[in-house]
Amino acid sequence: MLTLTAVAIFPIAFVSYVIVRDEVRNVTHTIDFEVHNAALAAQARFARLLDKRELHAVVAASSPRLQAAIRRRSTASLERFARQNGLLLEVDGRTYGRRLTYAATARVQLVSHGNGVGSVVAQLPLDKTTLQRLSAGAANGVRLAFTGRGGAPAGTERGATLPLAQQFGIRAYVPHRTESHRRNAAYVRVVEAGLLALAALMLLTLVLARPLLRAFRWTEEQASEARIDALTGLANRRALEEILAAEISRAHRFTHQLAVVLLDLDRFKEINDSFGHGAGDVMLRAVSRLLTSLARQGDTVARWGGEEFVVVLPETDLAGASRFAERLRRTIEAHSVGEMRTSASCGVATMLPEDDVEALLGAADQALYQAKSNGRNRTETAIRGPRPAAA
Ligand code: GH3
Ligand code: MG
Ligand code: MG
Repeated sequence: MLTLTAVAIFPIAFVSYVIVRDEVRNVTHTIDFEVHNAALAAQARFARLLDKRELHAVVAASSPRLQAAIRRRSTASLERFARQNGLLLEVDGRTYGRRLTYAATARVQLVSHGNGVGSVVAQLPLDKTTLQRLSAGAANGVRLAFTGRGGAPAGTERGATLPLAQQFGIRAYVPHRTESHRRNAAYVRVVEAGLLALAALMLLTLVLARPLLRAFRWTEEQASEARIDALTGLANRRALEEILAAEISRAHRFTHQLAVVLLDLDRFKEINDSFGHGAGDVMLRAVSRLLTSLARQGDTVARWGGEEFVVVLPETDLAGASRFAERLRRTIEAHSVGEMRTSASCGVATMLPEDDVEALLGAADQALYQAKSNGRNRTETAIRGPRPAAA
């Protein structure tokens, strides 16, 4: 589980890194798009506001009150008219009304009796109120500022500047703090997704690990059960054939000797008949334990079937194998289980260079047959030699 988590963390971290990189790029692009849009919207709104002011100036220019004041050349009336309407009047080289320091202007010609006498100047102030009207609808922390008013130069924030009128412009921008906040939010989203993926993986492992382990163990048990004799716990016939084949090829490779002892309990049928099959099983298990306890490390004790056993003795010659078989025979003969006693006949054979499993066990079986024929409870060795050469 820990290993899987450790291994999974690398691809998840890599994918997260790639996503974070793209997300941050996305955030930057989105901000660029938003500030440009906000600047465009503010520019359009500003143009509409200035048009309105200009229209107001057009209406004022032809108003009877203004025309009368011009005819009378009444400076007081002209000044009053200009101030009341928030306009600048330029008549005969003189200016009436209050000139705003920062304002976009639109100029309308002033005509009296068919002659141009000056102009009416509409002013749209570049102040907070106007800015608020331009800002309506600017979302996601986008701010607006007028440019061209002198003072502080445009900041280093991500932004877009568009012209308004005269030297003035409008700048839409996202403050540094907002930008880094949005970038951090992207990091957090990706880290959250990465952690979620890791958690899901761990949960999946947790849910799947147990049944998987159980399945593995079951398969292993099945495999080993197929090689173990259920009654005695010894290697069964199939396992013995595999082991013996491996030992034969090893003996070939290293030119070692290899011997086998085939052992058959004598008149075992009588034990079953006298004491019952269950008691016979107990005796078979007792004999198995005796064989195992006498075998050396590296030897293999197997149940060949029924009341027959095989012991494989690597690196053992015929004399050594015979001594070992005799020890088995005497131990079995001396052993009793309750009232039950038995004895064994043994056939011993050593491997010839050309032997395979069948040939080697066949030779041991021949010797066992001899032992049975010669009266049982004895050991016989296979008389083997190189095959006679063809005449
Ligand atoms: P001998 O080998 O000396 O010629 O006589 P035997 O009676 O041992 O030979 P035989 O092969 O005729 O009989 C073997 C007996 O072993 C027959 C069978 O009832 C018994 N046997 C085989 N397998 C088992 C087993 O798993 N449990 C028990 N209790 N007996 C078994
Ligand atoms: Mg027998
Ligand atoms: Mg038998």
